[in-house]
Amino acid sequence: MSQDCIFCGIGSGDIESEILYRDDACFAIRDTAPKAPVHLLVIPNRHFTFLEGLTPDDHAMIGAMFAAAEEMARREGIAGSGYRLVINQRGDAGQVVDHLHFHVLGGRPLGAVG
Ligand code: AMP
Repeated sequence: MSQDCIFCGIGSGDIESEILYRDDACFAIRDTAPKAPVHLLVIPNRHFTFLEGLTPDDHAMIGAMFAAAEEMARREGIAGSGYRLVINQRGDAGQVVDHLHFHVLGGRPLGAVG
């Protein structure tokens, strides 16, 4: 856990947020500034910054995050209509929270990427 990390604070319960999902690897919350009708964040329980720090020991965590994203898309009713997973990495991508997270976006046509 990183002391000044907002996602660590939410995960530990120090910062109030509705936890929609949790398992041994990750949890999911709603984004407070949604960019789509459904906008969730899937966040590893353990403080983890950038993908460049991944080791083989982290592969199960990443797999669990994908499974959680799919589970939450299904629960939110967007698994059939379609959704997008976004991972921002560093400045050019607009990353503002340096704790790895998947954005799960859906509930409207999202347009082409790029
Ligand atoms: P990123 O730009 O990929 O780092 O995205 C960070 C996201 O976290 C942004 O979409 C913010 O709106 C969102 N966010 C920041 N603080 C909170 C919070 N306390 N609860 C939920 N979402 C948050």
